[in-house]
Order: sequence, then structure tokens, then C-alpha cells
Amino acid sequence: MSDYTDELIGHITQNGFIWGPEPEIYDGLSGFYTYGPMGKLLKNKLEDVMRDVFKENKYYEVEAPLIMPEQVWEASGHLETFVDPMVLCSQCEGSFRADKLIEEKTDIETADGFSDAELLETLDEHDINCPSCGGRFEDEINDYNLMMGTEVAGQQAYNRPETATTTYLPFKRYWRFFRKQFPIKVFQIGKAFRNEISPRQHVLRLREFTQAEGQIFVPPSMKNDWDEYDFIKDEQVPLWTAAQQNDDKEYAWMTIEEARSDNILTSDAFAWCLNVAFDLFTSIGIPEDRIRLREHTDDEKAHYARDAWDVEIKLDSFGWTEVCGVHDRTDYDLKKHEEHSNEDMEVTTHDGESVMPHILEIAFGTDRPVFAVLDIFFDEDDGELHIPKHIAPVDAAVFPLVSKEGLPEIAEEIYRQLHEQRFDVEYDDSGSIGKRYARNDAKGTAICVTVDFDTKDEDTVTMRDRVTEEQVRVEIEELGDRLEEWLYTDIPFEELGEPV
Ligand SMILES: [Zn+2]
Repeated sequence: MSDYTDELIGHITQNGFIWGPEPEIYDGLSGFYTYGPMGKLLKNKLEDVMRDVFKENKYYEVEAPLIMPEQVWEASGHLETFVDPMVLCSQCEGSFRADKLIEEKTDIETADGFSDAELLETLDEHDINCPSCGGRFEDEINDYNLMMGTEVAGQQAYNRPETATTTYLPFKRYWRFFRKQFPIKVFQIGKAFRNEISPRQHVLRLREFTQAEGQIFVPPSMKNDWDEYDFIKDEQVPLWTAAQQNDDKEYAWMTIEEARSDNILTSDAFAWCLNVAFDLFTSIGIPEDRIRLREHTDDEKAHYARDAWDVEIKLDSFGWTEVCGVHDRTDYDLKKHEEHSNEDMEVTTHDGESVMPHILEIAFGTDRPVFAVLDIFFDEDDGELHIPKHIAPVDAAVFPLVSKEGLPEIAEEIYRQLHEQRFDVEYDDSGSIGKRYARNDAKGTAICVTVDFDTKDEDTVTMRDRVTEEQVRVEIEELGDRLEEWLYTDIPFEELGEPV
């Protein structure tokens, strides 16, 4: 890991964002982390923004079980194909992912599509041995399923390896609830589990993680009869097409309409979805110049997928990192579940048309975006987090200048007032004011509010901007309104009150 990565992880550990691998006091199990007080506040903020983007686009939130019986995963294909190719060391019996070993030890960029024979051949050719003990590998590849199994009432079941499948299953319920009208838009935010062999890269690769996904059920005929397309067709997006990648070209900004007319995006509805995905990440404050939308090349595209794109974010620690997949899954999923459940998934519209709907999916998670925000806004020179104020873990920290003469009582009252106005507030009366400012700058607190001696006579307090360290005086009564303006509008700081 780079120095920057070490420093970043040190900073977010010390400042109460993310701890682990947990359980730390028992030496930790890779791929499991705890969000500390600041991390949980930040994660909630991000998830709230994401909820908001989905709701703005008329998606409804649902919550399905985390555990599903084996039949479901047999139908979805996870039982058979959600596997990693493993090799076993003949000496120490350690097991390793053959494709990852090859990618690490050779200049082969991806061993993703390699057959078992190709994997073994390549290991042999490059003389790759066990990274722990140097021993030879056994001459066979074992399929290692990534699902975490469990038992329910004696029946084999699995913790869901993705939320999406569980979102698809009640399709007929949605159909009736939404009065038999397309499109049907739902989203889910919740935990999923993957038995990764040796997860590294902090919370970028977890065994237990929070997924978020939005799904649209749409008849094929509606994909190019998409009412909302007109609202977004002039939006600019950073597209990196498969053709550009094959020609070693950089991504380019173009309008949705341009991408549609060149058939880079094959339907209006999919183009709209891709724009929603882009919006999800700019809305949480990721700078546009750190985002690109990358089309899957032919050899990485899932066999059922029509359009398939990833959203990637450029991190200072780990470089360009995939954070989201946007897929036209066609009717693959519903057909599979129809076959395995014997439930007819075809529906009849008000026009009497029989339809097996297609699914357009935006699939991501919330752990990677949290890490991305911490990565992008960490300033290693001053040890501060310049998190955009609308997602700052703490909106306002309230300090009494000294712990006497009635100042703590006033500060406590302000804490309660801001809390009642639904802000995330912190009360801090320990150490010098300078230390309290520094602590809050390190955590990315949006504003510091200080109760001083003038407060008693004037009913005013100071607000301090963490970036410029400027201060203004505002009336206690107006503090909540000013804070609201500061967090959610572009008002210049000095317009919030009287300069100090
Ligand atoms: Zn070994």
C-alpha cells in the first residue's frame, strides 16, 4: 500500500470512521469492519442522499430478507456460477485464487475468462508457486463458491450474495400494487455477503457489505418510448466506450443524445438509467472529473446483458475503482424464476398485451462511496477532511468558550435546539478552543459554533468555517436557518452574519 493509503486509513481509524478488520481484540477476520460514530453518521448521510435521488426519480424503497432458500440461488445461477477458481498448495495446503495470482505475478491484465486448463498452464509457464511457503500447487482447479451458507429449520439456505435477486422475486406483488402499470421502479439498500478468499483493500472488498440498487421493470416496447428521456437528453456524461478502450483512447464527455444517436447507448430508458447512476455519485459530492462511465468490453459482458456499464471513481489510494454497475438484464431473471418456481411471470397490460418485462438495473453499494469520499477529501498535508458540507458527518459542533459562568448551559440549550431541527450536532467542552477546532477539522465537521461572553449580553454566537477559518456572529434564534443555508445552498460564508 502507498504512503497515502496508509495515512488515510490511519486517519479514518483514529477519527472514529471505520475500524477493523473486526473483531480487532480477537485479531480480526478479513473483510469485516465496524463503522464508528463518525463513519456511521457519514454513511447515513450518503444513504439519505441516494434515497433522495431514487425518490426524485420515482423509485419506491423495499426491504427483502437477507436469507433465502437454496432454490432461489439455483434459479438465479449463483449456486453454479458464482465461483472463484482456487488452487491448493501441496505443501502448506493454503488456497489461493488462480486468476488473481496470475494477474499479480505476470503482466497479464485479466485472467477473468480463462478456462481451468488455461489457468493451470499459465501458472506452470510462469513458474508461479505458493506465495506463503513457495510450495508447488496441486494440479487442479477447485470451484470455490462465494456464497455464505447457513441452515434454516434443517434446510440449506444462503445469505444473499447480492440484494438484486431478492428485489426481483416479488415482481407479481409489485405488478398488482402499482395497478398493473409500467414502468415499475423499486430500490433496496441492505446487507449482502460474499465469502471472498482473501479480501484486502480495506472496505473496497468486504465479506459483509451494504448494497444499494435500483431496478426498473419495463416492457421491451417502452425502452424507446420513455417519457423522462426528454428531461435528460442534453445532460453531459463522461463516457468511456468499449471502442475507445480497445483503441487505447481516453474517455470523453458527450451528451446523452449524442450517445443515443451513435447507438453507444442502445435505448432511451437505459440512457436515462445511466444518467441516474451518474447523478447518484455527483449528488454525494464526488467531483465530476473523478468519475467516468465505462462500457464493458465484449469479453467481460455477462451473457444475458445487453448494455453494461460501470461507474468508476478515481481514488488517490487505489486509482480508478469500480463503484457501480448499470445493466440492461433483459428478461433473463424473470424467465429463470418462472422456470424454477412455476409461477407465471408474464403479465397482461391494460391494452391486452402479454409482457415478460425486462429489467434495467443500477447496482452499487454504500461502503465504497463512503471510502471514496474519505479518500478524495482527505488532505494529508494538514490532516483535515474537507468533506462537502451537505454530507459532513457532523453538521455543527457547539462549544462553550469556558466551562463556567453559565456558558455550558447556553451551549447545551443550543445543542438541543439544533438537534430538534434535525441537524447532526456534537457538544464539546474539553480542551482549548484551538484543540476543539482541530479535532473537528480532522473529522470534517461543517461548522463550529462557539458560545462566548458576548453571547450572554447579545444572544449571539460565532460560526466558524473550517476551510477559511473565517468567523461570523449570528443570533441564536436564527442559527438553525443560517446553518441550513450554509449546508444546502451556495451562500457565501460572510453573508451568514456579522463578520468578526
Ligand atoms: Zn504453501
